[in-house]
Formats: sequence, C-alpha cells, structure tokens
Amino acid sequence: MQEIPLVPEPYKIKMIEPISLLPEAQRKARLKDAGWNTFLLNSRDVYIDLLTDSGTNAMSDAQWAAMMVGDEAYAGSRSFERLEASIRDVYGFQFVVPTHQGRGAEHLLSKSWITPGQYVAGNMYFTTTRAHIELAGGIFEDVIVDEAHDPRDEAPFKGNVDLKKLEAFIQRVGAKNVAYVAVGCPVNMAGGQPVSLENLRKTSELCRRHGVRVVMDGARAVENAAMIRAREKAYLGKPVAVILREMCALVDAIAVSAKKDAYVNIGGFLATHDAELCEKAQNLCVLFEGLHTYGGLAGRDLEALAVGIREMVQDEWIEHRLAQVAYLGARLEAERVPVVKPFGGHAVFVDANAFLPHLGPEELPAQALAAWIYEATGVRAMERGVVSAGRDAKGGNRHPELELVRLTLPRRVYTQTHLDYVAREIGALHRRRASLPGLRFVKEPKHLRFFQARFEPLPIKIAA
Ligand SMILES: *Cc1c(COP(=O)(O)O)cnc(C)c1O
Repeated sequence: MQEIPLVPEPYKIKMIEPISLLPEAQRKARLKDAGWNTFLLNSRDVYIDLLTDSGTNAMSDAQWAAMMVGDEAYAGSRSFERLEASIRDVYGFQFVVPTHQGRGAEHLLSKSWITPGQYVAGNMYFTTTRAHIELAGGIFEDVIVDEAHDPRDEAPFKGNVDLKKLEAFIQRVGAKNVAYVAVGCPVNMAGGQPVSLENLRKTSELCRRHGVRVVMDGARAVENAAMIRAREKAYLGKPVAVILREMCALVDAIAVSAKKDAYVNIGGFLATHDAELCEKAQNLCVLFEGLHTYGGLAGRDLEALAVGIREMVQDEWIEHRLAQVAYLGARLEAERVPVVKPFGGHAVFVDANAFLPHLGPEELPAQALAAWIYEATGVRAMERGVVSAGRDAKGGNRHPELELVRLTLPRRVYTQTHLDYVAREIGALHRRRASLPGLRFVKEPKHLRFFQARFEPLPIKIAA
C-alpha cells in the first residue's frame, strides 16, 4: 500500500468543545426523527460533523482578540474601514459591500445586473447562486467542461469553463441577453474542482470581446489559488496571495461567502472594480441586509473577517488544509471507498453511484448514503446529487451525472485521528454496502429542497 504522508497541524489547541458518539440504537432513532435528512439532525447527536465547512471553522486567537475592538456604530464604523482595507489589499477590489453571508451578496448582484429573461452562464450551478439568478428572472446555462461530470477523470482543472460552449452560447442567445458570466472558483458541485488561471484569463478575454461582464463566485477562491499553485505550470510555487490577486484582476466583481476561506462563522461581501455596481448594490443592501457599512453584520463580525482575510492567504494555513483533504481522500481510497479525483480543496466527495451500484437514480443514492454513514458512524455528511439539483422548470427531477456525498472539512477543527476514524468506519460500511437501501421523498419543500426535505427508506434490495 502507498505510504500516506502525515500532516502535522500548524496550530495547537487552546480551547476545546466536547463531542461524543451516541450508541448505534440512538443514532438510528435520531436519523428517523430527522426524516433521514442529515440537515435535520441536531448537532448534539453528531460525533464528527462534516456536513459543511461553512461557518464551522475555528477562529484564531488574533481573530478573537480583534472582536473585542469591534465598533458597533450604526453608520461609518471603524470596523468597516478595517474590512474594506483587508479586501482592497488581499483581493484587490476597490468597492466593498458587506452582507450577512454569501447568498446576500448573490442576491444584491443578481438583482443589480439581471433583467428578467436574460441569461447567466456559469461553470456548473451552485444551489443558492442559481436560486438567486432564477429569483431575479434570469436563466442559468451550464458551460463547464465535459470532464467535470466524470468522477473518474483525473484532469487537474475540471472546473474550467468550456470556451467553445461559452462562445456558442453567446452567439446563440446574443451578447446583450447575457447578464453576466459567473465563474465558480472552485466548483463546489463538481467535487471542489479548480479553474486554471489560463482558463479564467481566456474566459475573461472572450467575455470582454463580447462586452459581457464576468463575476467570480469566490467563496473558496483561496483554495482555487492553492490548487493553481500546485497544478498549473506557470504558477508552481508562487505565493497564494499573488495568485488570488491575479484571479481577481480578471473579473468585474466577486461574490463571497466569508464563512469558507476567511475562517469566520458568519459574513459575506460583494466586491467590485465597478463604481456603478457598487452604488446599485449599496442601495439594495439597505433594503435587504442593513446599512452599507455593516450589511447585516455586527462590528465585531467585521473585525473577525478583516483579520481572517489576511490569515487565509498565508501559505502555511492553506497548505495544511489541502493536505488534510488529501490525507482523508487517500485513507478512504486505501479502504477502497470510491472517491472523486483529483481531490479538491474543501472536501472529499464519495461517488454514491459507485458505492451503491444496486440503487437507481430515483432511489436517491447519495441522500441514502449520507443517512447510512450517519447511522453507522455518527459522522454527518451532505448529499450533492439529485436531491440538491432540485426540479427543472417543467417540474421533473434534474438528474446530474454526479451523485455525490460530500465529507467536508471545517478549517482548523478536526485532528488527523478524527480523519482516521472517518475513513476506517466508512470503509467498514462500504464492505457491507449490498444491504443498504435507497430512500424516497415524503416531504419536498419548494425552494432549495435539500435543506428541509424528509425521506423514508425503501425496502432492502438484494444486490447481485
Ligand atoms: C457557500 C457558498 C455560497 C453561498 O454562501 P452562504 O454564505 O452559504 O450564503 C455560494 N457559492 C459557493 C460556491 C459557496 O460555497
């Protein structure tokens, strides 16, 4: 077996939060209470929580210290000035509108730039992003490269925009009917796959030729920058901070969920080089978020974010994060669990179709696998497949080719021993996979159904 490198943590623990593993009978009962949806489990019933890395990160002592100097003034807070300075320095955008989290920024952006009936093209959809595009009357068009849909393709930049698809799309609908192109860096729904700088540059050039604006979904742009540094020839070994600035220079605006890269528990922002967008978004901000210098956040939240943004581009932090993800991935592979390759920046994605080959798409393999992982191990994961994809305009289920369970690592939270436990126990579940049944919906909410849906198990099939 291949040697799996150790990944010593570049931090030590100063405060602890107790966690414990419930007995299996209680996990079964809690899962039933939650309608077999891991989003509806209570945190107290979860042992290792890999649902998401969103807002679940551990802040540094420097961030906690900064919170004490939060300026809670309603208008013109000093904390906003510090946040604005961090964003200007690290991302390079002149104009900053804070929001309560990423979807707040998506809302302001979509409402500012989409005229109903216009299109937005992007490299695969993201749940809240597409929802806000559609709420603003936009129509989403996927222009990601084909290899993104194949969990076994090991191409290094499976998040790339397919430039031929994008060009053909703009020709077909006409540039003036394209509100903007939204590039997710990296692509969450494809397994956290990155976009290369070369591809981002060509996408940006193509859009400029047609007079179409480009936006980056930058929730995990630092992870994308770190994968560019590791995989793209022209950038090998360059500081992540330099790569991030170069990425941001290629787009008109960035919508950011600060709950990811920036280590905070809440927050987001829209940042742009475009004064007109800033003014529109600031005006909508007062309607939906709060005054444009706090955007639904407390002064202390702005402070924690201002420090987190400077920490996130320090190479040792981001290197450790990528190493942790790769470690968990390699341990799962050693257990013969089918995972998406290459490993992304924030999570290991288990291929549920390969794990549960006896289930058809209507049996919701990834939703079922996330449920059985909790029942068997106390580990909480998230479905990223047919349930997350929702229904199309005609009311049918969207069937993405990728049917994945995401094991997401919060930043600076779990130790290597935790990761060993996760891999060992999911490996054990994999060895008895033939007896695992699928699920069906018993309650399906209208918006972003994966968050609140309820399910029940189907009868057990005997696998061939
Ligand atoms: C988390 C996330 C969002 C939405 O941000 P929230 O802070 O959850 O509202 C948008 N896009 C991507 C890629 C994300 O990961």
